[in-house]
Amino acid sequence: MDYIQYYLGRGDICPKALEVINEAQKDVIPNFKIIEDRAEYHQSRILDIFIKHRISQRHFVGTSGYGYGDDGRDTLDLVFCDVMGGEDALVRPQWVSGTHVISDSLFALLRPGDTLLSITGELYDTLHDVIGIKNSVPGSLREWNINYKQIDLTSEGKIDLTKLKSELMNSKVKTVIIQKSKGYSTRRSLTSKEICKVAEEIKKMRKDVFILVDNCYGEFTEDTEPSIGKTDLVVGSLIKNPGGGLAPTGSYAVGTKEAISLLENRLTSPGIGREVGAFPFGYGYFYQGLFMAPHIVSEALKGSLLAGRAFDLLGFSTYPNWDEERSDIIQAIEFNTSEQVIAFCQAIQAASPVEGYVVPYPWEMPGYEHQVIMAAGTFIPGASIELSADAPIKKPYIAYLQGGLTYSHVKLALIKALSKMQKEGFISL
Ligand SMILES: *Cc1c(COP(=O)(O)O)cnc(C)c1O
Repeated sequence: MDYIQYYLGRGDICPKALEVINEAQKDVIPNFKIIEDRAEYHQSRILDIFIKHRISQRHFVGTSGYGYGDDGRDTLDLVFCDVMGGEDALVRPQWVSGTHVISDSLFALLRPGDTLLSITGELYDTLHDVIGIKNSVPGSLREWNINYKQIDLTSEGKIDLTKLKSELMNSKVKTVIIQKSKGYSTRRSLTSKEICKVAEEIKKMRKDVFILVDNCYGEFTEDTEPSIGKTDLVVGSLIKNPGGGLAPTGSYAVGTKEAISLLENRLTSPGIGREVGAFPFGYGYFYQGLFMAPHIVSEALKGSLLAGRAFDLLGFSTYPNWDEERSDIIQAIEFNTSEQVIAFCQAIQAASPVEGYVVPYPWEMPGYEHQVIMAAGTFIPGASIELSADAPIKKPYIAYLQGGLTYSHVKLALIKALSKMQKEGFISL
């Protein structure tokens, strides 16, 4: 079948858009090999771990009430622990989002009078109210007399070791937080290796400091996770990478026995910890999602590369550059105007399998300081391992594109989005 002719026969596709995407694809295809090889490596590891834990149908059955002895839940903890590489793990649908598990981790690891230190600059937007950065939000760390300090990344986007060492002299610093992925910024994302090395340095100076890693969007993009090494707690969302597009909700935490035991008392209540918590729908999709995750992440990564190269060819600034090393699935694209960034997000929504007829607009989302537009025509609402695009409406006008359950969808969505933007006059191809 002649695919070019197939595309060109469609009214919603402009030949120039197809040309740009095909050219971009030619450039990025050589880089797909390493992504596919890595997916194969993680796939084989995960398969072995499933076999080792004798995963069977009984792990997928739901429970109700207190959920005592929920084998599906408890075994999923063990599986995640082995996959991510830690001493212990908690995987729970009761965590409503990534922000929730990060917030619980902070309250688990810090006490009044302690200081939280971010060594990757400003944290993800939704954590500002958790900390109480600007004002004391009821229930925030600030209200509990837990202080916050941050060290910005160096001009090369690396952790500032000199400043870190001097801050660690302050005995009040009890937890160091490291955000792996760029979040809503154009900084480079850190690699697991880098995080582990810094963690080692921190522990050399201060054994009593907890190291918490926000691993959102980072899982399976590299050979190793930051949980292998000297960090204490590594957390992330299940509607991003490790849920494989199938986990319907929830988050995970992997870490040392000590950190996980502190966290389980925060998860439910002191004394009860991890031993309760029913999930009537069962854990089948969590297991299957984890099993699918390396492949789904590789599809998303290939899509990000294609998008990065395409907008690069069109003269836009993109972060990271298409040929740079990646340690998350996000592709940031800098547009010139708010109208352009809005048009892009709307075009991505219009190319989505679910609610493709809906037009998203910027709105005041809870937890965000600026208006945000979010294109998420996803099967699981807000799941950003599925193709999605978000943009805070502030200068510089950057859209954060991520996810994609299949590379083919991302490619087609980009062709359609470029065509739509061209037709409406937002770009000229
Ligand atoms: C997505 C994300 C979070 C958590 O966001 P939720 O929407 O609450 O799941 C935190 N940090 C980073 C870097 C993220 O990308």
